[in-house]
Amino acid sequence: MTDRTRAWPRMTQASGPVDVSPDTLRAMQRPVLYHYDPAFLQLFERVVSLLRDVFQTRHDVVIMQGEAVLALEAAAASLVRPGTTVLNLVSGVFGDGYAGWIRKYGGEVVEVRVPYNEAIDPESVKMALDAHPEISMLSVVHCETPSGTMNPVGEICRIARDRGVITVVDTVSGLGVEAYSPEAWGIDIAVAGPQKCLGGVPGLSLVAVSPAAWAAMECVENPLRGSYLSLLDWKSSWIEQRRFPYTPSVSDIFALEATLEQAVCEGIDRMAARHQWVAAAARAAIAALGLTLWPARSEIAAPGCTAVAIPGGTSADEIVHAMRNRYGVMVSGGYGELAGQVVRLGHMGPTAHPTALFAQLGVFERALLDLGVAIQTGAGVGAAVERLAGWNDAAAG
Ligand SMILES: *Cc1c(COP(=O)(O)O)cnc(C)c1O
Repeated sequence: MTDRTRAWPRMTQASGPVDVSPDTLRAMQRPVLYHYDPAFLQLFERVVSLLRDVFQTRHDVVIMQGEAVLALEAAAASLVRPGTTVLNLVSGVFGDGYAGWIRKYGGEVVEVRVPYNEAIDPESVKMALDAHPEISMLSVVHCETPSGTMNPVGEICRIARDRGVITVVDTVSGLGVEAYSPEAWGIDIAVAGPQKCLGGVPGLSLVAVSPAAWAAMECVENPLRGSYLSLLDWKSSWIEQRRFPYTPSVSDIFALEATLEQAVCEGIDRMAARHQWVAAAARAAIAALGLTLWPARSEIAAPGCTAVAIPGGTSADEIVHAMRNRYGVMVSGGYGELAGQVVRLGHMGPTAHPTALFAQLGVFERALLDLGVAIQTGAGVGAAVERLAGWNDAAAG
């Protein structure tokens, strides 16, 4: 028998990177352009404008040429100096990790922490800001992808803005699952990625930067310039002079243009509603199978992936391997501290659709049966089929 782990998957339903649309793949095949070719300059201009539409913002946007982790670190490197006190909110692996960057650049961390199946309570943010008037920056994760949970970022950032605290939001898997604009929510630096709910290709950081954030970056001791991590370099080169600080990843920009066009064509509100509906169907399936959702409450469950606690008698690895090796379906297990504790059904980007969910649930059920987990065959698929009554791609426009 062939080793199916070495064959390519039939379906990728991981929690990012996700399957990419044929239009995006085709866009990447275009000839590579010189980055000062007028055609590329025009295209880059257009991508920036599309990104503003997708972020629903009038703030400046920056496309950093590296995976979203680049911009997350860049925000800390640009804003944090010895003596800066940052309120870091931790409800999962990425929130916990952000403290490392704050400390690396000399900052003091004040932490509000909840268990990794919970969400941050805005009241606790108010209390921490009242208790520590020296806090000048707040960092929070919108969707904690490894936990499949979501924080009330709008409420949290508005509290911070009222007190003049600069906010940095990891919305890498949040952009596209909840309609928002950084100015309405009080987000000074929003960092997203194309490879999660937008359904694009990994490799770029999408950043929206408020005027207050630019001012804060310029005010720190030794403003960060002349560095791959510098947001200010992008301001003084691209934003102010239509020059690049270095050669952009041309093919990735082609892909991003296609991805953003598809998002604008669908509409961010519709895209968010699509993710939320499919996620509700996934949760209905988990309940019908008698399994336990990892998030403590369905109201805090992320629309981009559904984290499921591992049923007794099996393991996360066994489930992931059975789905991948026997059926060619790639889903994500746990990550970081949650490794071994959860398996995640993915519904991000193109996989946030009934077709992908039905297939994934069927294979998930089959794999559980293969592993000897007692479930009622078809219960999960059936619940999802019912929950998606009324779906109509044609009406979704
Ligand atoms: C995917 C993701 C990132 C980017 O991290 P990678 O491990 O490089 O994919 C950052 N934050 C969140 C919340 C994410 O989901």
